[in-house]
Amino acid sequence: MILIPDVKNKKIGVFGLGLSGLAACDALIASGAEVFSFDESAEAREKTADTEYRCEHPKEWPWKDLTAVIVSPGVPLIAPKPHAIVRKANQEKVPAYGDTELFARAVNAMPAAERPRLVGVTGTNGKSTTTALIGHMLKEAGLDVYVGGNIGAAVLSLPAPQAGSVYVLELSSYQLDLTRSLRLDAAVFLNLAPDHLDRHGSMENYFAAKMRIFLNQQPGDLAVAGVDDEYGEAACTELTARCVADVVPVSAQGTLGRGFYALDGKLFYNLDGKTAEAGGLDGARALAGAHNHQNIAAAAAVASRFGVAPAVAVSAAERFEGLAHRLEEAGRLGKVAFINDSKATNITAAARALGAYRDIYWIAGGRAKDETVAALAPHMASVRKAYFIGEAAPVFEEDLGGLVETAMCDTLAEAVAAAAADAEAGDAKAPVVLLSPACASYDQFRNFEARGEAFRAAVAGLEPKRSANGSPAKGAAA
Ligand code: ADP
Repeated sequence: MILIPDVKNKKIGVFGLGLSGLAACDALIASGAEVFSFDESAEAREKTADTEYRCEHPKEWPWKDLTAVIVSPGVPLIAPKPHAIVRKANQEKVPAYGDTELFARAVNAMPAAERPRLVGVTGTNGKSTTTALIGHMLKEAGLDVYVGGNIGAAVLSLPAPQAGSVYVLELSSYQLDLTRSLRLDAAVFLNLAPDHLDRHGSMENYFAAKMRIFLNQQPGDLAVAGVDDEYGEAACTELTARCVADVVPVSAQGTLGRGFYALDGKLFYNLDGKTAEAGGLDGARALAGAHNHQNIAAAAAVASRFGVAPAVAVSAAERFEGLAHRLEEAGRLGKVAFINDSKATNITAAARALGAYRDIYWIAGGRAKDETVAALAPHMASVRKAYFIGEAAPVFEEDLGGLVETAMCDTLAEAVAAAAADAEAGDAKAPVVLLSPACASYDQFRNFEARGEAFRAAVAGLEPKRSANGSPAKGAAA
């Protein structure tokens, strides 16, 4: 159990009882705090029966005596408008922050010699993959590694920090907004593309939230910046000008004078004026596509800080199994491969997936985000036929229908069946049925995981004897 300093006998509110809220309640109670909790969902509130969480409406909380309110990352601080709990906390002058801040305080309170090392990863796309990959590389190197945060386990449910251990944390912009004193020994900013703008209000605010990953870094710490988009480049320039951490740029798009970069399917690095090849990336089968090469480059940059030679990092990438719902092979039927990329909930992520294959039978649609799907037009050259589902289907049809053969489908299962039949009948040698929706799932599914599972089930149901590899969902990471 991670114990939080300076909360003994203090009264603390916890708003939002998802995984991170429940872990915060447990850690606070174990640390001697008196917790007052609440969640807007009755189902979540039920989980607090028979606990010491004192689940009551915030109207009943002893605001004058509260030291802090721990809010779930889903709670808007500013845009589109501050949540009522945030307004109340501001009014009562009670600081509101997140579970990662509690973790940071726990680590900061430790004597320097016992302090674990912390790695954080953020970016619009690739956070989970890169976080899990860094964890995998460091575990293979024999380090005592814990992976969590926005992926898998809530940070406060990880084992207690100790000397020599390494925490690899995925950090969303929401979590970073709610964190103040986290100091990361290695911080990674992968990329930035329009997403979550309803919450952040503007790209500038979104960028500023992501840049918080470098807050509190000290000389000797590592700052890794993906320079393949204008925001990542701006991050790199700003960090270099700050002259605090050691800045290492990474790219999957071209040669760098310094840093880690992937070119023609190989990873190169240059940290001391000499460029060297770390190895070919084709063997990293769960990390196909240029976007994943960016993730490998970033992970290798971090791993090298922990003593893992770049060639060893590349060989570890070959043994990385990948994450569920991210370019995950969901089965094969004859010559047709079925790829589940349900996690591609925005245009940029889908573009990456479309760039990773040829002869694609593409299933897309769902609840559209505020983006133009026409941006995917250049990728239609590798799409044999597209199958559109969900609320966004008419817009996708309107924007892309002139460029590629399309079909409108009522359900995901119908789209899978149609795509499978077309792929099998077509003349492509190795066709791919790809679910990479470029949309949120909420119009038809509980979340992207449920959508990915529905895809797997539809694939398994196509021809039970020959089709599925039947493999269960791959776990996110320890
Ligand atoms: P996140 O945790 O940031 O959402 P994931 O690793 O879960 O990222 O990947 C989400 C989606 O983004 C996947 O569908 C994948 O195809 C795409 N993706 C992964 N890495 C990158 C990257 N570096 N750049 C752009 N897209 C990526």
